Amino acid sequence: MIQKTFVVGPLQCNCTLLACEKTREGVLIDPGDEAPRLISELQKAGVTIKYLLHTHAHFDHIGATGGLKTHTGAQICLHQGDQFIYEMLPAQGQMFGMTFQAAPPVDHFLKDEEVLRFGEHSLQVIHTPGHSPGGVCFKLTSGEESVFSGDSLFQGSIGRTDLWGGDYELLIGSIKKRLMVLNDDILVVPGHGPQTLIGKEKRTNPFLN
Ligand SMILES: [Zn+2]
Ligand SMILES: [Zn+2]
Repeated sequence: MIQKTFVVGPLQCNCTLLACEKTREGVLIDPGDEAPRLISELQKAGVTIKYLLHTHAHFDHIGATGGLKTHTGAQICLHQGDQFIYEMLPAQGQMFGMTFQAAPPVDHFLKDEEVLRFGEHSLQVIHTPGHSPGGVCFKLTSGEESVFSGDSLFQGSIGRTDLWGGDYELLIGSIKKRLMVLNDDILVVPGHGPQTLIGKEKRTNPFLN
């Protein structure tokens, strides 16, 4: 398994490349910014991208989606609950003083517990609404288990809930019911900041205790 995380854009979004070493087929999670750099990383890794996966549709996670779509032709995947946020990318940018073109249309709406295959590996979708209505996490179901938690769960913190469709109680419920039930030794790769472990967050995350 090829697994590389790139920190992109002014908000330092963690964008992760996962690819099958044998077939060179892969996915890119949260291409938030710096399309030219991500494209050159894909070329360097010698991989073909099947899916552009999004944990949610805030601009810092979808800013390079258009550029990556043009270059890779990969399927753009998002939960339908975030489509209204996805469609307002230029307006999101304005709010934060940045300029974005409208993002190309979503090709595939992600469903809770759906399994996405790439090469000899697969990811499972876990719907975790609260930071946004269509927020999801992706759990690697082969090899070293990892969960890509977007802005739902961070090391020692959780995502903000004051943006479009955010809901604090819903987010806490999503994390407790869907993430804190996973094995303690599962690696968590959040949308921002350092990696952590499910067990460590169970014991020490102040929002969950
Ligand atoms: Zn976000
Ligand atoms: Zn974010």
